[in-house]
Amino acid sequence: MFRAEAVVDLTAIRGNVETLRAATPAEVMAVVKADGYGHGMLESARAALAGGASWLGVAVLDEAIALRTGGIDVPVLAWLWTPAETANLRAAIRHGVDIGISGGWSLAATQLTARELGVTVRVHLKIDTGLSRNGAYVTEWPELVAAAARAQAAGEIDVIGIWSHLALADEPGHPVTARQVAAFRDALEVAERAGLRPLVRHLANSAATLTAPETHFDLVRPGIAVYGLPPVPARGSFGLVPAMTLQAGLASIKRVGAGEGVSYGHAYTTKLETTVALVPLGYADGIPRAATNLAPVMIGGRRFTVSGRVCMDQFVVDVGDLPIEVGQPAVLFGPGRDGEPTAQDWADGLDTIHYEIVTRIGARVTRRYVGGAA
Ligand SMILES: *Cc1c(COP(=O)(O)O)cnc(C)c1O
Repeated sequence: MFRAEAVVDLTAIRGNVETLRAATPAEVMAVVKADGYGHGMLESARAALAGGASWLGVAVLDEAIALRTGGIDVPVLAWLWTPAETANLRAAIRHGVDIGISGGWSLAATQLTARELGVTVRVHLKIDTGLSRNGAYVTEWPELVAAAARAQAAGEIDVIGIWSHLALADEPGHPVTARQVAAFRDALEVAERAGLRPLVRHLANSAATLTAPETHFDLVRPGIAVYGLPPVPARGSFGLVPAMTLQAGLASIKRVGAGEGVSYGHAYTTKLETTVALVPLGYADGIPRAATNLAPVMIGGRRFTVSGRVCMDQFVVDVGDLPIEVGQPAVLFGPGRDGEPTAQDWADGLDTIHYEIVTRIGARVTRRYVGGAA
């Protein structure tokens, strides 16, 4: 009863968070942005909480509001927003979302909304310790901290957290991480001298949670590891179990002769008489077009390669003389337990990272949840 589905194993998500919990005395903020890295935000969030996460993290305000509307009442931090989002900011604050503050304008906008609503807003001040992405630059930090201390004294905000993000955590032992930890400690000291006593200091993503205890502080923010994908592939699985299996039923099979061009541009040509199978998934579903003639697919217990161009809605696989039936599943990736490819295999073949493989799986692909209490 399916065209294509992403089967999401909630027991795996729950177990992965238990694994992360066991790796640190810090609290765990499960990052569920981007629809739970493509796995479904609310379902993933509930499974992560069942596994012992006590915080949730998202990028954008809409995601935080959706968690609250979905009935989730644990602390939620949202960290990426723009000055144009006044209505969204108001809604998020009304829902008791913790707001990431990366500079003067975002503090001012938060103070204004706090006064409008007559509430005290929970905020996390972000210092840029060397990623040069979001966060206050070191030269702006003393001024931001002083302004935050004044706003806190006025009852407009409550500085719940001070935080930063690592640039090279996926290369354990890299000297940049040590420099970022030192810069973070300096920033904490500046904040302390300004009278701020944050409840949580946080820096670590998945890779750092599993490989760099000196980055843990009070709270860690794993994302990819929650979904079971190894954050440092060279170091193995860390006991994590990939939660997503992407599969589709074959929509057509036929015998074709030798020398037939397959799919647009005839980027693939059959060598012998063979069976070609049609998989109803394409780049509109998030299958990278770069998978053309490269990515692995399991059909009937054997591994094949995408044959010819990935189209918008479909691609073809040459399965040789394997006896197959229309409707039987083609597994693009899964946990790898039954010999199927993994998201890591897809990423390796396509010169990208598994984050992108799972996160891009589109809304047209049904999510089916198995396992778990959620
Ligand atoms: C996405 C994100 C995370 C989670 O990173 P992973 O590498 O998936 O563990 C943590 N913190 C911030 C700021 C992020 O943007």
